[in-house]
This record gives sequence, C-alpha cells and structure tokens, in this order.
Amino acid sequence: MNDYQSPVPADLPERIQHYIDGEHVDSAEGGSFEVLNPVTNEAYLRAAAGTKADVDRAVAAATHAFETGPWRETLPRERSRVLHRIADLVESRGERLAELESFDSGLPITQALGQARRAAENFRFFADLIVAQADDVYKVPGRQINYVSRKPIGVAGLITPWNTPFMLESWKLAPALAAGNSVVLKPAEFTPLSASLWSGIFEDAGLPRGVFNLVNGLGEQAGDALVKHPDVPLISFTGESSTGQTIFANAAPALKGLSMELGGKSPAVVFADADLEAAINATIFGVFSLNGERCTAGSRILVERSIYAEFIERYAAQAARVKVGLPHEPGTEVGALVHPEHFEKVMHYIEIGKQEARLLAGGGRPEGFPTGNFVAPTVFADVAPEARIFQEEIFGPVVAITPFDSEAEALELANNTKYGLAAYIWTNDLKRSHNFAQSVQAGMVWLNSNNVRDLRTPFGGVKASGLGHEGGYRSLDFYTDQQAVHINLGEVHNPVFGNAD
Ligand code: NAD
Repeated sequence: MNDYQSPVPADLPERIQHYIDGEHVDSAEGGSFEVLNPVTNEAYLRAAAGTKADVDRAVAAATHAFETGPWRETLPRERSRVLHRIADLVESRGERLAELESFDSGLPITQALGQARRAAENFRFFADLIVAQADDVYKVPGRQINYVSRKPIGVAGLITPWNTPFMLESWKLAPALAAGNSVVLKPAEFTPLSASLWSGIFEDAGLPRGVFNLVNGLGEQAGDALVKHPDVPLISFTGESSTGQTIFANAAPALKGLSMELGGKSPAVVFADADLEAAINATIFGVFSLNGERCTAGSRILVERSIYAEFIERYAAQAARVKVGLPHEPGTEVGALVHPEHFEKVMHYIEIGKQEARLLAGGGRPEGFPTGNFVAPTVFADVAPEARIFQEEIFGPVVAITPFDSEAEALELANNTKYGLAAYIWTNDLKRSHNFAQSVQAGMVWLNSNNVRDLRTPFGGVKASGLGHEGGYRSLDFYTDQQAVHINLGEVHNPVFGNAD
C-alpha cells in the first residue's frame, strides 16, 4: 500500500458482466477475473471471464439480430441518426468516461478526455460517411450495366487492446455498425471498465437489441473462441504482432476476413536542417504521451550526426522535466502503466538498455513513486541497430536515439526492424522529405508533424505491423461485401454450344 492514491470514481461497479442480447449476464461457467488499479495494483473489481459458452450465446444473439432484426435493413439515413446519437451520448458522458478510463488504465486524465472526444468523432465520421456513400456503376453502351451492391456481412468479432481502450473500440464499432453488421466485442482484460459504458450508450441511442454484444475475458479463452466461431466471418484485431500471428493461424481454416492492426517501433528521423525546437517537442510528445503505450510511438529517434550532440542534450533535459504524476491530476503528463505485468516488462527493457546503450534520463522509477506502475521517461543514446531496445517494441516511456551520417544510412536504419507502422520525418528539404517518405517502409508517414490523423486517410502498417487498412471508406470496405451485379442490355452474346446438327 502506498500513501498516494487516485480518488475512486463515484458509483464504481463492484463487478462487470457480459452484455448479451440486451441483458447484463454473468459467465455461463461462473468465472471471473480481478481488475487492478494501476496506481496501487490492488484489485478494485471483478469482471466476468467469458468462455466458449458465453461467446456462443453472444454470437447466437448477434446472428439472430442480423438475420431477423431491423438493423441491416434500416436506411442509411436512419442508421446515421442512431450513430450521431451515440456520438452525442459519448460526448455528453465524456468526463465520466475519461474518469473511468484514467482510473482503470493509468492514462493521464487530460489525455483520456482527448481520447473520449476522438471516440465520439469516430461515430460522427461514419454516420456522415454512410449517407454520403456512393458505389460504382460501369456502363458498356448498349450492352451492359454493372453496379456494385454493398451489403453488410454478418457478425463481426472485434478484439481490442488496453491502450486507449474505449477509443480503439469505437474505431471498430462505428464502421461495423454503420455498415449494418452485428458485433461481438471482446475488450482487453486489463481494462474492461470503460467498455462497460457502451451498453447504456447504445440502448439510449436506440440501437436494436442483439446488434451489440460484449464478452469480457481472457484472450486465450474468450478471444480464442470468438476467432474460431464458425458464425463469425470477420475478425478485426488490434494488439501485439505475436497475438496477430496466432489469430491469423486460428482464422485460417474458416478463411475469415481479417483486419490486423499490430505493433510498431516507428522511427522519427531528424535531419540537420529541421526546425529543431519543433522536432524535439514533437518527438518528446510522440513517445511519452499516452504513457508511451501507443502503437504509433516514435520510439526510435534517428538524428543527423552534425546536430546529434545538441539534440540529445536538449532532448534528455526536456525528458527529465516531463511530469510524471497521478493519472487523475490535470498537470500529469505521464501516468501509471496499465498493469504490473506490463510494468515489469518495461522495467526489464530498461535494464537491458543500460547494458546496450548510454542512459541519459530516467532509467527506473521516478522519484516520489516507490510503488505503483510508474516509470520515469527514459532516454537512451548511442543505441546500436542490433540492440534489443532498437529492435523490439517496449510500449512504455522509453526512447532509443541513434546517430546517422547520410540520408542513405538514415533510411537503412529506419527500415531496419521487423515493424512498419509509422514514420516521422523532420527536414525542410522538400525533395528529400518526399523521397524519404516514399522509400521508408511504413504504413503511415508524417512530415514535420506529430501523429495528427485525418479520419479519411487509411490507417495501417506494413511488415509485422499489420494486414489491411482501416480508416475512412476502407473500413466500410472491410465490413461490407461488394457484390458485382451485371445486367445485359443487348443481345445475349455468348457462343451457342450444343447447337450442331
Ligand atoms: P495483446 O495482443 O496482448 O491483446 C490484444 C487483445 O487480444 C486483447 O483483447 C486480448 O485479450 C486478445 N487476445 C490475446 N490472445 C488472444 C488469442 N489467442 N486469441 C484471440 N484474442 C486474443 O495486445 P495488448 O498488450 O492488449 O496491446 C498492446 C499491443 O497492441 C501493442 O503491440 C501495440 O502496438 C498494439 N496496438 C496496435 C495498434 C495499431 O493500430 N496498429 C493500436 C493500438 C495497439
């Protein structure tokens, strides 16, 4: 027990159940698991631990709603109204949502509030997109018209991680529902609290019963059962690359549609001609915001040698001033990592880093926080490309900085990991920025910018960072079948077989 505590949110439930066919229910087999407060690591509630039996019930409810219910046939304008009401409710409950999210995940409250606003925005975006949706028509004059008939697919299985959980759930829920599917959501077991708000939001917004179902539980049980369920043709997964591999293999026998948003070790490349102040501010935010638990974190910074000494000195000094604090305090910039297991993993990498590179800031617990999952923003310099802290995703407030001498070397270093999610490039040379952007192996590139994403753009990674893209109409492509309908306008013009004398 420590002497600092986050205030416990009012009216916290003592247990969290599943939500199946419009009812809150316990696990069929009665199991539950503990959920920990990341500041104290004490269990503060229990959540139902779903197994195959619960997933079977949820999929049956979702299938029934899909086959018989009104949602898939509801006109886009009406579905759009429901989605806008969901966005309104998320916005109006944003403070409560952020309070629960911050308490459950250890995210700083100001950042949790930002994520709640983004979750509402995701619903608004897809509400607008489905009424503006146009599909292709192709004409062959006098002969044929071909058109695309877009249809919802059925029950989508949505499996999500614990970093910014509510926002990442909204990212999948909004397009899946907008397209007219039913869903079964399996949220991350470290952070089930904010997901428990969805049922009330959907009920109040008028989403028909059975369209949204939620099964809590461990990945290897509830998640696994969802992936293997024969009546779930689509799985959208966000999480670690190694989990993605397991899911890929488990979904293969049924040839399911898969969307995979996986891990990253994204480079931020700073050339000598960059606006140094802006580059330092952005690369500090890029790896220390959201506690460093961010898939697109710029966790490897590559710096041109002529500015390297100045960069690392200024960077380390600023990193040391980043404010670690209790998640609920408005001034906190880095809160508590989500769970003691994850904390141990990050601390282990910090010890590895001390053997592999030069420690410039942080390197363990911050002063004043002897317990709980607090990690000081940690900066390693002179990190060799073969170092584990250069190659492996740490997913915490830890950055590896490496010098380079030429653009070619910078590119080689940037591409020298198994991941390929994001890249950030800092230079004022127009040609170089575009040439580098086109050569770097990353699904998303930001030039002279932090991670600011227009919701219309594709989101996704290459190499071990993912499969497929979500974002904008690409999400609707994933959650719909695009049936091609061909209409003959003229003569039937196939050769006639079997007509010989
Ligand atoms: P994780 O892979 O451990 O778990 C993610 C989800 O998968 C959880 O709900 C978990 O219960 C479930 N799961 C685990 N094993 C499963 C199995 N065998 N079958 C089915 N489901 C299973 O990931 P995490 O630790 O929760 O999240 C952190 C990871 O997510 C990091 O690697 C991060 O980079 C990645 N991430 C990627 C993106 C992106 O968009 N690319 C976004 C956020 C996080």
